[in-house]
Amino acid sequence: MPPIVRLAKRKLKNAIVTDETENTNEQRNPTGRLTRLAKRLAKGLVILALLLLVMRLVFFSGPYQPVAKRYAEPIFDMHCHTAGIGAGGSGCFVSKELRNNFRFNIYLKAFGVTLAEVEAKGDQLLIERLAKRVEESERVGAAIILAMDGVIGDDGKLDRDRTEFFIPNEYVAKETAKYPTLRFGASINPHRPDALEGLQWARDNGAMLVKWLPSIQFIDPADNSLEPFYRKLVELNLPLLTHAGAERSFTHARDELADPVRLKLPLDLGVKVIVAHAASTGENEGEEDIDRLIAMLETYPNLFADISSMTQINKPGYLQKTLAEKKFEGKLLYGSDFPLINTAAVSPWYFPLNLTREQMQTISLIENPWDRDVELKEALGMPVAIFAKPAEFFGITWPTVGETPAN
Ligand SMILES: [Zn+2]
Repeated sequence: MPPIVRLAKRKLKNAIVTDETENTNEQRNPTGRLTRLAKRLAKGLVILALLLLVMRLVFFSGPYQPVAKRYAEPIFDMHCHTAGIGAGGSGCFVSKELRNNFRFNIYLKAFGVTLAEVEAKGDQLLIERLAKRVEESERVGAAIILAMDGVIGDDGKLDRDRTEFFIPNEYVAKETAKYPTLRFGASINPHRPDALEGLQWARDNGAMLVKWLPSIQFIDPADNSLEPFYRKLVELNLPLLTHAGAERSFTHARDELADPVRLKLPLDLGVKVIVAHAASTGENEGEEDIDRLIAMLETYPNLFADISSMTQINKPGYLQKTLAEKKFEGKLLYGSDFPLINTAAVSPWYFPLNLTREQMQTISLIENPWDRDVELKEALGMPVAIFAKPAEFFGITWPTVGETPAN
């Protein structure tokens, strides 16, 4: 028996004995009961901590994959979000529902802004702060900032009542153009009557991809009427970054639309499709979405996935599974899903069986959200190829300063 197990056992035994003595005392002297309760609770916590420590020693398995040599080149983050409330004439909006949701304040904090600041200086402040942090990052060299289209009603207009949050393309294109470290990711709901013109406009204004969130934008990727849209994407060489798997960052979602199998139509038409978060979490027809994606990988050379948000506490096991799956080789792109990496949803402390205490501590103390994200993923054994992939995929060469988007 390891000495630590013996110590835990002895502590547990002692605590039980002490508790019995205290019970008899309590009947005689009811005062000070709270103090005794607190003492007992503290004891219990010590025992729990010891047991956890023992379990950690027994079950510690180290990184998911052997840790590779540090990737020396700057990394291109192909999946970042901004947000906005419409301040400064940005055209952004957030639904009342989301604004009253506890997540709203968490997001503001993650962006490093306060509501008062945003109201005074405009939504542009979020992109300014974001650009500064990417610039300061020692690991990430540039990032794609995603616009977010909304729900399109039967009248062909933006349905504000059913749209939870909206970030216009014009706004993101204009703001990202101000910073050499930022690139524009467009979002166009194909149900807009002028969707094809929108795609052309996006391409002409430097868009590197088109982002969909089918489950909250109410887009069915398998809808045959979307064929012209897909053909235009191919013509413009614009990849489609689309969410698959369950969506929990918003207040409501139609998860059946995020089934990876529905992407066969654009894939058959030759669209380069990047499945966000490798379809982690969620299931359709009794099968995990990630398994439905894996089953399609060998059929489609134009099918890719990003690993953004996969270190989140609510997605246990998915990153490990993805890194171990041979069919994903050469198909995975690094993305951060900022601002989520800068919330309590992600922390090195959630990996006690894979990282040493020193690693967890060192990584958690890294100030820059992107550096912290890269170091965490690196320590978990993410191969260099995943960090290198986005720059290769989007034709980014360093330094990006003064260059026009190459795609
Ligand atoms: Zn995202």
